[in-house]
Amino acid sequence: AKANATGTMRYFVQRMGEQVRRRLVLERDLRDALELNQLSLHYQPKVDLATWRIIGFEALLRWQHPQHGNIPPSEFITVAEECGLILSMGAWALQHACAEAATWPEHLQVAVNISPLQVMTEDLPATVEGALRLSGLAPHRLELEITESVFINETRGTVNRLHALRKLGIQIALDDFGTGYSSLAYLRRFPFDTLKIDRAFVRELLISRDARAIVRNILALAKSLRMATVAEGVEEPAQVAVLSAEGCDIVQGYFVARPLPAHEVLPFVRQFRER
Ligand code: C2E
Ligand code: CA
Ligand code: CA
Ligand code: CA
Repeated sequence: AKANATGTMRYFVQRMGEQVRRRLVLERDLRDALELNQLSLHYQPKVDLATWRIIGFEALLRWQHPQHGNIPPSEFITVAEECGLILSMGAWALQHACAEAATWPEHLQVAVNISPLQVMTEDLPATVEGALRLSGLAPHRLELEITESVFINETRGTVNRLHALRKLGIQIALDDFGTGYSSLAYLRRFPFDTLKIDRAFVRELLISRDARAIVRNILALAKSLRMATVAEGVEEPAQVAVLSAEGCDIVQGYFVARPLPAHEVLPFVRQFRER
């Protein structure tokens, strides 16, 4: 039994060593990724339910690793956040998304995901202002998507910074609404322009009466607080019908399109209008 336990222990230590090594390699490669141009942004359309017109796109990071191929954000964003790299990656994403959107027709907006760590740093408003100035994008065409986890370590600075961003004339959306804890309190702390209902509720919409009741009430709440509403992760026409009946403003999801590489955005917009 003892030998066995030692063996297990050795295996365990080896495995841990492997994990640590894997993690360090990932971190090193991610540092290189930014300099070697391995990062790109894909763009997923958002559609107005009332007019069925595209109103804009959400920018989503992609990492093409030279050996391991496409690595999803779910794997590398957390690493980037833990080692602070998200700050330079986030600034890169802002600049590129704004520059790309500046080439689109003027009625199209771009939304950029912002990590809580970015909101916690003092220079976020300056970074955003710089991206707008460099790209020439009109501020009202930029939306930042922020999750409620920014409020977990909330300081006065956080809320002040959100107000400073708002003063630039950009829009601010509360992302993944309903997945965190005590979400309602945050709505009083800061007046978001848009509320994005998390995919978890949309997924259950057709099978769970409770999920539908929750969505209905989130929509009513958002409306009374004068926020626009976006449902994310919409995959089926029946979900579109329910969301429309419940008064949701905007849908986003595979039903409309998967996130597209930058060069496919304008052709998609053109063919969407014609269909
Ligand atoms: P998110 O902000 O909630 O983005 C939506 C995610 O859902 C995206 O995953 C998108 O590809 C996926 N999605 C969209 N429609 C559907 C659908 O109909 N069905 C399903 N199953 N999925 C759908 P993605 O691109 O893998 O990104 C995952 C997360 O990584 C994002 O979640 C966001 O939190 C983070 N992320 C991505 N890009 C950035 C970035 O530039 N900065 C930061 N801080 N985070 C980012
Ligand atoms: Ca988002
Ligand atoms: Ca989301
Ligand atoms: Ca999400």
